[in-house]
Amino acid sequence: MDERTKEEFILQGIGASPGIAHGRAFVVAASELEVPVYQIDESQIEGEIERFEQALVATRKQIQAVQAEIEKNLGEDEARIFDAHLLVLEDQALIGETIRELNTTRRNIEVCFRDVANRYIAAFGQIDDEYLRERAADIRDVVERVLHNLTGRAIAKLSEVARDRILFTHNLSTSDSAGLDQSGILGLVTDTGGRTSHAVIMARSMKIPAVVGVENATSRVQHGDWVIVDGYDGLVIVNPSEKTLFRYGKLQLHRKSIEKKILAAAHEPAVTLDGQRVSLVANIENILELESAASSGAEGVGLFRTENLFMQTEVFPSEDMQCEVYRKAAEFFGDRPVIIRTMDIGGDKPVKWASFRSTPEANPFLGFRGIRFCLENAVLFKDQLRAILRASAHGNIKVMFPMISGTDELDRAVAMLEEAKEELRRKGIPFNQKIEVGSMIEIPGAALTCDLLAGSCDFFSIGTNDLIQYMLAVDRVNPRTAHLYQPAHPAVLRMLRIIFDSARKTKTPVSVCGEMAGDPLMAPILLGLGADQLSVAPSSLPTVKYLVQHMKLADARKLARDVLRVDDPRKTIELSRAFFTRHLGAFASELI
Ligand code: PEP
Ligand code: MG
Repeated sequence: MDERTKEEFILQGIGASPGIAHGRAFVVAASELEVPVYQIDESQIEGEIERFEQALVATRKQIQAVQAEIEKNLGEDEARIFDAHLLVLEDQALIGETIRELNTTRRNIEVCFRDVANRYIAAFGQIDDEYLRERAADIRDVVERVLHNLTGRAIAKLSEVARDRILFTHNLSTSDSAGLDQSGILGLVTDTGGRTSHAVIMARSMKIPAVVGVENATSRVQHGDWVIVDGYDGLVIVNPSEKTLFRYGKLQLHRKSIEKKILAAAHEPAVTLDGQRVSLVANIENILELESAASSGAEGVGLFRTENLFMQTEVFPSEDMQCEVYRKAAEFFGDRPVIIRTMDIGGDKPVKWASFRSTPEANPFLGFRGIRFCLENAVLFKDQLRAILRASAHGNIKVMFPMISGTDELDRAVAMLEEAKEELRRKGIPFNQKIEVGSMIEIPGAALTCDLLAGSCDFFSIGTNDLIQYMLAVDRVNPRTAHLYQPAHPAVLRMLRIIFDSARKTKTPVSVCGEMAGDPLMAPILLGLGADQLSVAPSSLPTVKYLVQHMKLADARKLARDVLRVDDPRKTIELSRAFFTRHLGAFASELI
């Protein structure tokens, strides 16, 4: 059909990253590798076998290269894990059966290999023996590589494929999203995902308009269709008419003028109308964001999510390499604080280092994640701790631990930090001996034992993204339950009050670094409850600062008291909206 005559239609999702984008759709059908399926005739069989052999050789070379790198960085034992992968490539049963399948079905070799391998994986996966079950994971890894080589596709990076397009994908994995910063994509639409999934947090920090949880978007939109992504209202307008384009053009200009007005105030201090200074700092995902953090008016970094450093590489980044990154952040902000959170991998943040590729878990958010991973991988954890400590000699670095559930984990993490310090002392390497240590409060277990945790740390940082998911039993990345993910739920507000009360009693400074802190409707409540600091994405910071500059802390305290008395999240939102309107008049509706 001529594209000018295509009908406009609108898809509704969840507005996850504000902004408007207009461009052609780049549709990625699914996150798994797709294999073309076609019939071949007898004369092509030889050629197919040859392609197969070449792919096996290429895969062998790639695995050996990874193995050599691991041996260099982690030692011989870790590298030996790849011997099992190399053996898969020589498995005569697997290879022979693939060729038999080719001869009998006359389908292209990729499909034959995939089908035979899947039968093997299923058979190994069912065996009641851990060693053999792990073999299934080895085969899966190798098969993926062989298929990539066969289909002639490098492990495609978004940056190469979707430049200047609107990316439509079923589910953007966090490791895919780690490449978003260089991708040059204009907008993002996903079938699944919630506002606080890490891919979305990443999009927001890169200022890429995004709409998530758009049911079947990837099948309803065609590759190459013109679309508008409205990240404010969670809309995707497919084949927009002239009239719609005109309306959105005007809207975009209007939004730009508002942004300009807010940005103009972003470099003034965050002082309330009743003279209270509020600390506003930035959440960053990598050091490319240091500039945008500073230009949005941040007074430092309240959360440096280091896991992106670990998700982009095939091997564990060395201590030196990490130190370099942390040092750059410290030097950039000089004497202003940079809080580095140790790696929070697991959950929706898997890693690709082949030797650690985790086995799938039924409940990854309740599984082997964050500090749990670190405490069981002391060598890797200590590498990171030494890197952070060494960088602390170059600025005002603080260290913070994620996913703490109680005193035992915090004490063990602190003990490892002390060991790392001792190792540096022995070598005469300088670091800040008094580096401050923080505990994230994002698990109800930690929230209810803040008074106990206070004895082992210098500050708290509330991770509302996880705290809400664990409090309300709502998966933060599941669009089916997104409506139940309610920051204004009375249980969440009560829990926050408990944390702030404990912090006050134990004189422990407390920051909020979850997405709730960057939500203009929630920020005054958090300040009113007692937050000393808000740490938000650079893209949200100017709005929050503008609001702080136009409110009284005394009024925010009253708002907090009022919302603690209401029984329905909707009423809390209404009260907060009214608070906003009282302070900003008609301009309030432009910001929320
Ligand atoms: C949080 O849980 O609120 C948080 C800041 O950590 P993350 O989003 O990285 O899990
Ligand atoms: Mg968290």
